[in-house]
Amino acid sequence: MVIQVSIDRDVCSGHGRCYVTEPELFGFDDEGYGFVRSAEVPEDHRDAVQRAVDGCPERAIRLL
Ligand code: SF4
Repeated sequence: MVIQVSIDRDVCSGHGRCYVTEPELFGFDDEGYGFVRSAEVPEDHRDAVQRAVDGCPERAIRLL
């Protein structure tokens, strides 16, 4: 089973918490904005994704 993760690029401000705290799940582009390395993440990574969701100051990360 997988969970779906996305970042709303219009909301992300590039604070970098997601890719600093969970680098296996999130990367960053040339301007410092975060991106999801894989839109589908194994269920056993749910806690890590949730930490990123909770830690994003802009609430830009969505977990389905
Ligand atoms: S923590 Fe949130 S605002 Fe910061 S780079 Fe990640 S998604 Fe963007």
